[in-house]
Amino acid sequence: MPPRTYAQRLLGGILPLEKIGPSLRRAARRALAGGDPQRARQVAVAVVRELARRGDLVRVAVESGRPGRQLFLLRGETGLIDLEPLLGTDGAAADLLPAPGVLNPANADAEFGAPSLARMLQALSNDRSLPLGQPLSTHPQVVLEGILELLERAVPQLRLAVVLAEAADLQVPPRRVLGSDALSPLPLWSRHRQPGNALWFAAGTELPPPLARVLAAPGGATLVAGVVGVPLAAPPELAAQEGETGPEAGLLFVTAGPLVGRAALLADGRQLARFVTARWRQHLGLARLVHADGLTGVHNRAYFDGHFGLEVERARRHESPLSLVLADIDHFKQVNDTWGHPVGDQVLRSVAREMQGVLRRIDLICRVGGEEFALILPATPAGAAQEVCQRLLERFESLRVNVAEVTDPLRVTLSFGGVTFPEGGTEPAELYRKADGMLYLAKHQGRDRCMFWRPLEEPLLILPPAC
Ligand code: GH3
Ligand code: MG
Ligand code: MG
Repeated sequence: MPPRTYAQRLLGGILPLEKIGPSLRRAARRALAGGDPQRARQVAVAVVRELARRGDLVRVAVESGRPGRQLFLLRGETGLIDLEPLLGTDGAAADLLPAPGVLNPANADAEFGAPSLARMLQALSNDRSLPLGQPLSTHPQVVLEGILELLERAVPQLRLAVVLAEAADLQVPPRRVLGSDALSPLPLWSRHRQPGNALWFAAGTELPPPLARVLAAPGGATLVAGVVGVPLAAPPELAAQEGETGPEAGLLFVTAGPLVGRAALLADGRQLARFVTARWRQHLGLARLVHADGLTGVHNRAYFDGHFGLEVERARRHESPLSLVLADIDHFKQVNDTWGHPVGDQVLRSVAREMQGVLRRIDLICRVGGEEFALILPATPAGAAQEVCQRLLERFESLRVNVAEVTDPLRVTLSFGGVTFPEGGTEPAELYRKADGMLYLAKHQGRDRCMFWRPLEEPLLILPPAC
């Protein structure tokens, strides 16, 4: 067999053909079988266009990459696909998604000041592509490090740092984003700051050494210039209540050298803080897109794989319990076989919605398989998790899914398997294995029930109220 071209490899497994329509999918199979590289290329471009149109390909810019690289992130996957060999560097991808904005740090040097900073931030905001170090992380420290790095490259005359309001559980070695402990010892007067107020230091030497080091120019010269610390709001998504604006996530510290005075620096700082919040929000939106299950709207498998380990880690650090419940719809194949796939899809959506109704906002629902869900319940000991399972069984006992094609509403039951950290296991894989074992038992013993792992005892059997 002759060596395969890039387009043939894309069609042969890299691009998710199951996400496009049947006629294009057939064309892709034919092009692959036919062996004509030119035809394969044409069809691969059509498939890429279709995936972009459906929102399954998200364009990203990796700022350190060569100019012209057409990198795309496949929804639900963590890998980046490089489409440059297919589309070329001549901007053939430009009509797939809006092109990135132009940004020239050299120009900014010449005319620095509030108006030009505003223009620079505007240009950056118009840039629809996102510079992504770790595209799928939603951890504030990781996201903010990425944003500050972008700003630092765009506006090199500014030095920036963020001190988070909390002693952050840091995920990567801190560069510009520090936990609240970096603010001690601060001068006494600064403790009178109210939320929403900014801090102004006439000389950087007044700052605690770890923060001064981050803000000092490369080479480690002592920071003598003035420094402003402006409140940085978290995106509204992170507000405790819906409709609230985001809480104060920390302070954004900005310094620009001895020639920039207090008023100008404060104005710059506030603009920058607004930009950081907006960018943070954009990042969370992208992460949501990549992590959402297209059918049910809950988190997808990629999200579970990336987050379950982090949740266990957090529970360990905070010495807090955490429960994992696996749920699987009973005899789902029969629903599909009897009423067809679209009805099956409708049932899946209803099941996800019902589970959302039972769980708290901080619980995470992930669709980890065709009709399987993993529920991560942070700060939930075994007893509380068992009550949740009881409530879920009750809810599904009374659920009837109305389907247009079917006269009698459908009854759906689920089986559950649960386990709690730390008594049931301290590693993510072990917890998953135990919950899966419990789910298997629940299925084996008759379905429509929950088996919950217990130390030194038989598993706890939980039945719906009617039984
Ligand atoms: P059990 O009670 O043992 O779990 O039986 P089951 O029929 O639910 O289990 P099985 O794993 O054999 O079947 C799962 C079915 O789920 C097979 C597949 O047709 C269906 N399925 C998987 N993903 C989807 C989907 O996205 N939509 C629809 N409609 N069906 C799906
Ligand atoms: Mg099933
Ligand atoms: Mg199954």
